[in-house]
Amino acid sequence: MVIGGHIDSWDVGDGSTDDGGGCMMAIEAAALLKELGLVPRRTIRVVLFTNEENGLRGGKAYHAAHGKEKHVAAIEADTGSGAPRGFGISGTPEEVAAVQRFAPLFEGLGASVLEAGGGGADISPLTKDGVLSLGLHPDASAYFDLHHSPADTFDKIDPDHLERNAAAMALMAFVLAER
Ligand SMILES: [Zn+2]
Repeated sequence: MVIGGHIDSWDVGDGSTDDGGGCMMAIEAAALLKELGLVPRRTIRVVLFTNEENGLRGGKAYHAAHGKEKHVAAIEADTGSGAPRGFGISGTPEEVAAVQRFAPLFEGLGASVLEAGGGGADISPLTKDGVLSLGLHPDASAYFDLHHSPADTFDKIDPDHLERNAAAMALMAFVLAER
């Protein structure tokens, strides 16, 4: 399965919120699982996609190179680094319901809102192939104050939010790669 974010950003800010935080969550999620010695049945691959914001070349290139490999799910973090809230899920109604049953596992992280509909631009070529796709959905009430603006800088990132979102991503990645 794939987890990731995108490494490009509009150059008016430093891109910490869009999408540096998402990249760090994916890296930290893998590091957390490694540190805890949690090895799921399936491989978790961290992908930092390039050029999400100006043509999606990274997402398309990943799909061209790896789209034929079996993917059980993909998770993209590209909605900022606000307080953890949960995930949006795109898949068949049965798949969405199956993921929603894991909600109690995420309560301790404040990330138990598992809503239908979600994913992300970079993983959209996989979504189109029918791969179960999730978007990490933190509280995004301040997201558009920062997104694509000179205010998108590192000082806006709350380390506690970043860490708990990374933990939620690690947990979701593990659950989906293990089931
Ligand atoms: Zn973005």
